[in-house]
Amino acid sequence: MLFRKLPDVKIGILGAGQLGRMLALAGYPLGLEFIFLDPAEEACAAPLGKHLRADYTNEAALAEFCADIDVATFEFENVPQHAAEFVAARVPLWPSARALTAGQDRLSEKALFTALGIPVPRHAAVDTLDDLATAAATTSLPAILKTRRMGYDGKGQAVLRSPADFTDAWRAVGGQPSILEAFIPFQREVSCLLVRDRPGASVCYPLVQNVHRSGILHLSIPQPADPLQTQAEDYARRVATHLDYCGVLAFEFFVADGQLIANEIAPRVHNSGHWSIEGAETSQFENHLRAIAGLPLGSTALRGASAMLNFIGTLPPLPALAALPGVHVHDYGKTAKPLRKVGHATVTAETAAEFETRLATLLALLPAP
Ligand code: AMP
Repeated sequence: MLFRKLPDVKIGILGAGQLGRMLALAGYPLGLEFIFLDPAEEACAAPLGKHLRADYTNEAALAEFCADIDVATFEFENVPQHAAEFVAARVPLWPSARALTAGQDRLSEKALFTALGIPVPRHAAVDTLDDLATAAATTSLPAILKTRRMGYDGKGQAVLRSPADFTDAWRAVGGQPSILEAFIPFQREVSCLLVRDRPGASVCYPLVQNVHRSGILHLSIPQPADPLQTQAEDYARRVATHLDYCGVLAFEFFVADGQLIANEIAPRVHNSGHWSIEGAETSQFENHLRAIAGLPLGSTALRGASAMLNFIGTLPPLPALAALPGVHVHDYGKTAKPLRKVGHATVTAETAAEFETRLATLLALLPAP
């Protein structure tokens, strides 16, 4: 139990992007302190703690990172396995290195879901251009070709509608080891955010309905009484129990014909949980910190209606946003750049009618898709 040492508990975070920044913002009221390791020059969490600017393969920097912290975590899932194991050999790392790597390869991730009885899209491994024809016979077309590793926000993906697309798709994924997935004609996409503590108790947030634009999350709306809540929690708990998980686990699903089909997990706080800062009793960021620091988990109950809208590329003018009732702006302090997540806003309301009006007003401020 690390809590006895508060207020001196130091949390080390691998990665210093907006998720690290929001973790630190949630941790300061608990008396926690933060050290980040991230090679990026523009690391938007850096102003909130000590920033070690070094590559994740730099063992001297990793050793320095570990020397002064009580517990380590990470804010992005592509931390190299070696770095995670190096850190875990020196300080507690939560989620564990095993949990980190479980989601790094789309093929073994799907094998894990299948072993745990969780439905997945039909899929096949693709290691060469020639494999595509056989893989397409398994999935049928249309299908989506995805790199097995390092893909995010729809990067490293190509849609195949006919065999005429094979060569271009293979080029689009850079000829890397990939997976072909059947295209799921989903009615909606949802995510289940689970948080599990060290002894193994877990709580889930209400399911979140997500809308993507060009593979990037655009809008997330927590659903107070989703009929798939129990099923999603059961699937998330199977994975969390199997991995002896600690912290926040995000599980993304497609919903087709009323059934959940697993897409992917992220072993970290997740963009589809940002609404919880204003919209839940305890935010995903605070609950992640509570879990890894050995504190009791906080309530995941909703505080009225809410939704989160991502700002991609640029932020709308702050005065326009600040003028809207119930709108809470998060500017990550990043340089504007196409397709970059530079901030988000959460809109909150007490009644459904008020919520709809406020969300529509906020959406109208964004550039057309
Ligand atoms: P991913 O990076 O795998 O989460 O994919 C990004 C987005 O692409 C998803 O949120 C979906 O909107 C879409 N997508 C990915 N895989 C599939 C699939 N098998 N069927 C239909 N849409 C998909």
